[in-house]
This record gives sequence, C-alpha cells and structure tokens, in this order.
Amino acid sequence: MMYQPEIETMSLPRIRKLQSDRLSQLVSRLYKKVPFYKNALDEGGIKPADIRGIEDLHKLPFTYKSDLRDHYPFDLFAVPQQEIRRIHASSGTTGKPTVVGYSAADLDIFDEVVARSLVCAGARPGMKLHNAYGYGLFTGGLGMHGGAQKLGMAVIPVSGGMTDRQLMILQDFQPEVICCTPSYAQTLAEEMVSRNISLNQLKLKYAILGAEPWTETIRSQVEKGLQVKATNIYGLSEIIGPGVSQEDQEERGNGSHIWEDHFFPEVVDKDTGEPLPYGQEGVLVFTTLTKEAMPLLRYRTNDICSIYYDKHSKRTHIKMSPIKGRADDMLIIRGVNLFHTQVEVLLQDFSEVVPNYQLLVSRTKTLDEVTLKVELAPAFEKELSRISQDSKNEKLQLLSGNIQTKIRNNIGLGMAVQLMKYQEIPRSQGGKLSRILDMREG
Ligand code: ADP
Repeated sequence: MMYQPEIETMSLPRIRKLQSDRLSQLVSRLYKKVPFYKNALDEGGIKPADIRGIEDLHKLPFTYKSDLRDHYPFDLFAVPQQEIRRIHASSGTTGKPTVVGYSAADLDIFDEVVARSLVCAGARPGMKLHNAYGYGLFTGGLGMHGGAQKLGMAVIPVSGGMTDRQLMILQDFQPEVICCTPSYAQTLAEEMVSRNISLNQLKLKYAILGAEPWTETIRSQVEKGLQVKATNIYGLSEIIGPGVSQEDQEERGNGSHIWEDHFFPEVVDKDTGEPLPYGQEGVLVFTTLTKEAMPLLRYRTNDICSIYYDKHSKRTHIKMSPIKGRADDMLIIRGVNLFHTQVEVLLQDFSEVVPNYQLLVSRTKTLDEVTLKVELAPAFEKELSRISQDSKNEKLQLLSGNIQTKIRNNIGLGMAVQLMKYQEIPRSQGGKLSRILDMREG
C-alpha cells in the first residue's frame, strides 16, 4: 500500500517538470518576500527569471545554518506573522537555536509526508502509534503525531523518557507501531528483557527510527529485541521535520525514499560545494519546493550520505543512503576520517558484544587516540562466568584483538578496544544519544 500512489510512482520526467515549475515560482516569491534571498541573488547577479527549472538550481547560492542564526528568530519568514500557525526550534546546543515557522498549508504538507512515511514503514489506518519522540520545540513528537492522525491512526502521545511507563503502555495499549530514536529503541528492547516482559505480551509490528544515525547492527538488535520490522525515518526541522525521507519496510537496507515532490535533494562536495554524481558520498543539500512560511534554497544539512535512483523499488522517488554522520561530528584521527557509524556497523560480526558503545577521543602529547568502549553481551558474560579466570582473560583478549583487527582492516585506524560489562555505558533515556566522548582540550 502507498499513501499517495499517484505521486509516489510518478514518472521521472513528470517529477522533474513538477519540481521545475515549483522551483521557478519559489525563487520569484522569495526574491519579493525575503530580503535575505533578494540580497543573496542580487550579489550573485542572478535574476529570478534565470531560474527556469531544476537544471538552473546550481546557479543559486547555498543557505547555511548560520544564515538561520543570523536571522533569528523570524527574519527568514516569507509570509506575514498572522499566517504562521506553528513555530519549532532546534536544540541550539551551540548559541541560539534555529527557528522555523509553518503556515497552515505547511502543516498540511508536514502531515502528508509523515502519513506517506508511516505507510511506507508498514503502518496502516486503524493501527495505534506509540509516539516516543519528544513533544515540544523538537519537531519529532508533533510531526509524527499530525501525520499519524491524518493517516487515520490512533496516536498515543507518550513522548520520550519514563521507560517504566512506556513499557506499561506497550503492554496495555497494544500499539502496532512505535516511533522513537534508534538508541531509545535499544533501551526499550533491553528493559523488556531485564523486566522479564515477554514479547508475546506486545503487539508491535513496526518501529520507525530516526533523529540520529544508526546502522544494520542496531537494526538487528532492535528487530530481534522488539520483534518488529525497523525502518529509518529522516528529517530536520529546517526542511520540515521527520518525513523528509523514509525507508520502505519491504526494502529495508536499501536506502530511504526522499519525497522529492516537496524536497529537492543534492549531494555536494564538502569543500568545493560542487554537486556530486548519484551514488557519490557528500553533504546533503535540500531545496524546499512547496513550503510557504520558511522555504529554503539549497540548504546545507551537514549530513553525509549519497543519493541515487533505485529502479528495483516500487516507488520512483530518489533514495538516500543512511546518514553516516554530520560533517561537524566527523573525527579526524591521525589523518583518517572517522564517523562512529563506521565502527558500529563492524560490531555486527561479533555476537560476544552488544552495540552499546562509545568512542573516547583523547590526546597524548601531539597524537589523537580513540578508544572503543563496547559492552559484552549478557549471554557471553554468562559463558565467561562458568570458566576459569585464565581462560576468561584469554577469551577477552582474543575478542578485543579481533575487534581491533576488524577495525584496522576496514577503517585503517588502530584503536584500543576496552570491553565493558553489560549496562556500564550510558543509555538513551528517550532522545538522541551521543556516542562520542571527546576528551581533547579546546
Ligand atoms: P538538531 O538535532 O540540530 O537540534 P533536528 O532535531 O532538526 O535538529 O535534527 C535534525 C538532524 O538529526 C539531521 O540534520 C540529522 O543530522 C539528524 N537525523 C535526523 N534523522 C536522522 C536519521 N534517520 N539518520 C541519521 N541522522 C538523522
């Protein structure tokens, strides 16, 4: 089933035509309504009439997160204040948060792309959605909420945290679908085991996970631990929120569809800004084609991935690979670029550990060092408890050596591996989890 089959299977030439019409209208409107864009176009010597279609997109300047901060809170809005129906903001861990506004029509689009995503993930009208994304200024909670209602689901607005209550609701209300961060899905799966809750007591079928990077390693753990099909949902408040792209539950592991009738993607070189060919990894850039209140031209997300068409998919819309990480979270260790997801994905080959891990970055004299802290799987701990201390040490040494070798062979980086007891590393309490602990000064 598809939510909007006519749109989701539209032929590529028709999609391009639609995108082109929308883009040229958008540029004319922004030129008139938003001084920031008028100045940016004037400075680049571009007239709105020069943008006749998608093929002219590369002529437009990029928009950066700093532009949103410089125009805090409302100066990028393209409609009068009275037409704004909702305001969201990002966490703003560094400096002022980035603020976004929605008109009534924007909220309809938000509902529409989330409803599309929910169906793509396996949800159906009549099912119940356990919505464990945070409600508030963060777009996750309210975004999923609106789309689920539009689809005809019953929303349980649990929000993040209070794991005991979450587990009670999962058992008592019997939702078929859950959405939360992948790290919180890990927490829930583990807590089910430690509280002796049997999977038979739950009716969950699908988990829709996003807001932070994750890999197949966590998918395996969550799918087994919650007995669900887990798919990836991606989004960012600047573009709309969750529902910019979604993985199909029958095409798990094969990328997520970007709803490109609304959000036009490009992948560009991190340093030169040159658009890259399909399949090549770089910075994901979006142009919002249909938003009214705060449209953005060529917004640099900072997220690293590739985009490509998948002719084996039942939908025509372009796909994106899972996000490897944010460009500003990339570690450069002795000249090697490193995202934590590169380590995470390798852990899948080791049944002796669980994907609860941290990368500890430190500096000794002039050299940067990374230590991988990763927890032992409870079953392996049990096995170890039955053998002598000497054989236990031997097994642990062998395991950390094997993990080290795997990482060196695949990433080209030597890294100490510290095996931790199960439950020793902090868990997600509901939101995004940081897997990197940077102990370097400055
Ligand atoms: P912030 O985290 O900056 O406060 P948002 O809540 O809008 O703001 O988060 C958007 C960011 O979250 C994206 O740019 C991306 O880095 C990350 N993100 C969202 N969904 C995913 C996903 N499915 N996979 C990887 N990263 C994601």
